[in-house]
Order: sequence, then structure tokens, then C-alpha cells
Amino acid sequence: MKIGLVTCASMLDQVRQIVPLIPQDQFVIYPVLPCCLFAISGDTIRNQVDKSVLANEATIIIYGSCHPELNSLLDMYCDSNIRKIEGNNCWEMLLGPERVEKYLSQNSWLGNNSFLTKWNREVSKSFGSETRNGQVASSCGIEELTAFRFESNQPDEEIVKREAQKAGLPYSIHNESLDYLKNLIQSAIDKAHIENEARITSGLSPKAELIPLSLLETMKEIIYIIDNSGSTVTFISPIIEKLLSITTKEFKMTFLSTQNKGGYLYKKRSQIISKRSAFITDCLERGFEDPLKIEYQIINGKGECRWIRETLNPQFKADGSIGAFAGRIEDITEWKTTEQQLTDLYQNEASLRHELETQIQNRIEFTRALVHELKTPLTPIMAASDTLSSGLKQEPWLNLAQNINKGAFNLNKRIDELLDLARGEIGVLQIKKIPIECIELSADIIQYIDAKLRKANLRLVFEHDENTIFIEADPDRLRQVLLNLLSNAIKYTPGSGLIKIKCFRTSTDVVFQIIDSGIGISSSDMAYLFEPYHRLERDRERFDGMGLGLALSKRFVELHGGRIWVENANEHGSIFTFTIPTLTPVKPEHLKLGYKNKRKPYEAAVN
Ligand code: ADP
Repeated sequence: MKIGLVTCASMLDQVRQIVPLIPQDQFVIYPVLPCCLFAISGDTIRNQVDKSVLANEATIIIYGSCHPELNSLLDMYCDSNIRKIEGNNCWEMLLGPERVEKYLSQNSWLGNNSFLTKWNREVSKSFGSETRNGQVASSCGIEELTAFRFESNQPDEEIVKREAQKAGLPYSIHNESLDYLKNLIQSAIDKAHIENEARITSGLSPKAELIPLSLLETMKEIIYIIDNSGSTVTFISPIIEKLLSITTKEFKMTFLSTQNKGGYLYKKRSQIISKRSAFITDCLERGFEDPLKIEYQIINGKGECRWIRETLNPQFKADGSIGAFAGRIEDITEWKTTEQQLTDLYQNEASLRHELETQIQNRIEFTRALVHELKTPLTPIMAASDTLSSGLKQEPWLNLAQNINKGAFNLNKRIDELLDLARGEIGVLQIKKIPIECIELSADIIQYIDAKLRKANLRLVFEHDENTIFIEADPDRLRQVLLNLLSNAIKYTPGSGLIKIKCFRTSTDVVFQIIDSGIGISSSDMAYLFEPYHRLERDRERFDGMGLGLALSKRFVELHGGRIWVENANEHGSIFTFTIPTLTPVKPEHLKLGYKNKRKPYEAAVN
């Protein structure tokens, strides 16, 4: 039977000696470096197991359960004739668990030829003098280096002595037979035979060989083979002529050469050649860890620059030694170009964002400075004119002081509007929502403008729902919107006119309406009314204002998730309507008892 042996490289020499002792079967060895010294991923083991399962009738795993992923990985091959020999680590497989236990209880540190020669550097790094803490082995209570010879005269006594000295320990050397490991392998083989018989009887035929060579012709990838010394290219897929416009002969001559003269032209030849040869040397001298993966640029036969991804793997002979190196070359230029474009786009976007953020920051700083510069001189004017107005009795001084005071307050309002507009434009205008009762809020505002209404000789009617209307909103901003609409209604409605305020609930919103019987707005003007600085031609001379009130009202309403619009009233005048969604339910504890539940229709009237 053809059997694959996936073997820990620490036992490779022993497995090689055992294989000729079992003559009735044919073996292929797939070595994997020991995970106690090397970072061996589950994928690396799977790769070797895959190869064995695909090319053999049975696979035997001679690897310790010390790799955390090994057992779960083997479970994935449930349909294959695959079995692991018993043993948690290589020593249990070589000596049996009882004897290992005995040595360990005597505080021995175990070593065979491979550990003490090929990987003595890794061993020293983990336990010996090269560790950060010095002599880890002796400081952990280890008393002796116990070396085992499974092969006659190996390891050399000189080597054992040298390594023991490095770790600061005495040593002993024991000659061992291969019987324990051989019996384990033999019993796994016996079971594999039984399983194979069963598979043949049940019609499960043995696996075919991996990738037929003819397939290579149709692949988009170029396969090459280098001999086991790493010095000659022995095979290259003919597809290279089509994909890179380089002949197979040119490739063979130039791929491994240190001279950049024609053929396979690397952009950074010496770096790539030395990386590849270091990998080959490492595999040959110390064992195979992970495949080599490199990306680089070349100039193809047409003189074009192409991005290449190369992967290189050793190919093992039946005895587990390296027979050749097989590599794969892919043209990844398109992928790289897209990746580069994405990186460029990202960088471009990042620098634009940075620029924008700086601009926003500058504008915030400017606005802050402007407000400070304007408000600082205004505050004492407002305070002083206020005191003067209340202290002076005599005309014309009282009138003058009142005019200064009114002017200062107007100016203050404009500055606030400008500041809010600037905040809105740079996206830092925020609202702070709390539960509020809309009818109460409207009534307060009406009270506040009562004097103005009287002065303008206007009548005001307030219509609202019977029940209270609670919503989550920013009371200051909502107040600002209502005040602005009401002030406009007063401003643009001639004396003896009527202003109506309505406040009611729909299933989704609370609706506020301010209806005046004033001069109205033409349909063509309505379209631009909510834009900043838009004022009607007819009002520019007659009324003060900057045309910011409606624009800001729109912003505040929208920040609450609502809408605002204007319509013509039936006969004359305008109707301004805005909605605030009531979708966020108000928590019961916020429904303060201080609010009146029912209120009589409000009518503020003058004469
Ligand atoms: P301002 O502070 O200049 O009043 P607004 O944004 O509040 O700015 O209003 C913009 C313009 O819309 C006003 O200049 C006025 O021409 C017009 N307007 C606003 N409300 C009314 C209204 N109720 N009746 C007639 N025109 C109005």
C-alpha cells in the first residue's frame, strides 16, 4: 500500500531508519518542523497532510498533540484513511510515556541529534545562555542534559558536552533502540490496511495523483521547478511565453542568475535572489517552515513593467528529504494598480478632509473672535443705557437713552443671529432636547410680546388642543422660532389686524401655525424666503432686519427633524407653519405637574 507519513522533523532520522524495516508497503515522508521550537501554523501542517491524503491510500501522522490545532485539524479529514500514532510529544513516541515520565521526574532535559545539532540555536534561545534571563534550564530546576542516540554514535559526545556547558548542566548519553516508535508506526499501518480493505470493498477507490501536468498549460499561473541544490531551473510552464512574453529558454537562463542581462529582468534583482537562496539554504539545512512569498516588479519581454507574486515550496521525496523546489509566479499588476489607486484615493480624501477640518476650525476661531470683539463693547452700552433709561425722567434725555438702549439690543440680536448662522454653516449648531409642554411655551411667548402687540394695535387669538402637548425639544430654540415668526407677523401686519397662533397635535407631529392678516408674500418670493439674507425688495427700505430670521428658524426646525413652510392666507396675509415630530415618547417622570392641564383660549387684544 502507498502510505504518507506526516512526520515531526525531530523524528525524521528515526522514521527514515524505520521505513526500510517495513518492506511490504511503499512510503512517502512529509516532514513538518517541531512546534516546540518553531512557529508552525495549522495551515503548514494542513498543507503537508493535504498532499499526503491526495497522493496516498493512507496517511499516518507522527506528530505530537503538542500542536494546539492538530487534533481539531485531523477531525476535518473524517473521510480519509488517516490516523495519528499515540503520543503527546516526540519523546513519548520515541521512548514511551512511562520512561519519559521517569526521566522528567529526575529533572532531565531530553535531547536527540536533531535538537543538539540542527536546531541548537533555537534550543539555546529557549533554554540556554542566550535567553534574556540567562540559564533558564538550570534556574528552572533542571539537573541534567540527557542525550539519546537512536543512530549509532550520534549525537557526538563533543556536541552534547558543548550544549550542556552552554546551559550550565552536567550531561549523560544513552543508546536507544527504535522499537517503541517502530511498534507505534506498525500498529497504525495495520489499522490503515484494515481500513483500506474496507474502503475498497465499499467502493471507495484510492485517491488519484495531484494536478495532472497538462493542467499547467491552461492555468493563469506559471509553475517552475528548481533542482534540490537550488541552482538550476529544471521546469517552467510554457504559458510563460504567453503571459510574460519571455521564452522558457530565456527564463531558465536568467531566473536564478545574479546578472540582470535580458530574459527575466528584475527591478531589484540582488534582493530577490538573495531572499530566495536564503530560503532554499534554510530549508535544506534546517527544515521547512513556511512557504516563501515575495512580491516584486519585473520588465516583461515587451518592455512593460509588471508586478509579480512568487511563492516557493520545497517538494519532498519519499524518504522525506527535499527533492526539488516548486514555485508559482502570478502577474498581479492589475491587482496592484487597483490597490495603488485605492491608496491614492484614500490619501487624497484624507488630505481634503484635513484641509476642510482646518478651514472649519479657522472659521470657528474667526467667529469666536468676531463675537468677542463685537460683544465686548456692546455689553457696557446695553447696561449703561438700561440704567439711564430707568433713571432719567426728563425729555429729550429719556427718549435718547431709550433709543440707545433699543439700538444696542437690536445690534446684540443681530450678532446672535450671525453667530448662529455661522455655527449652522460649519455644522456645529446643536440643540439640547428636554421635555417641554408646547401650549405652555406658546402662552409664555405671547405674554412676552403682549406689549408689542398693544403698541402695534393688533389682536391675537391663540387656538390649541384641549390637552397638554409634551415633546422632546430645545426650549430656547423653539422659543426663538416662535418669537421670530410672531415678530414678523407683527412687523408686516398693519394696525387693527389679527394674528392667530395655533398649536395642535397630529398622529406624528405637533403643529404650530402663525397666521397674520398682513401684507402677504407673493408666490415668486416664497421660494427664496428661507434662504439667508433674503429680504423682499418692497421691505428693504421700510423695515429693519438682515433676512436671517427665517433661515435660522428653518435650521432649528430641521435640527428637530421637523419642516417649515409658508402659504398665502385666504383673503390677505400669510400662514407660517412648522412641525416638530413627537415620535420620541416623553418619559412619564418628565410630565411635571406644574403645567396646567386645561387652558382657556387665549385672546390678547388691544381695544
Ligand atoms: P428679517 O429679519 O429681515 O425680517 P426674515 O428672515 O425674518 O428676516 O424675513 C425675511 C423676509 O421675509 C422679510 O424681510 C420680509 O420681506 C418677508 N417676511 C417675513 N415674514 C413675513 C410676513 N409675516 N409677512 C410678509 N412678509 C414677511
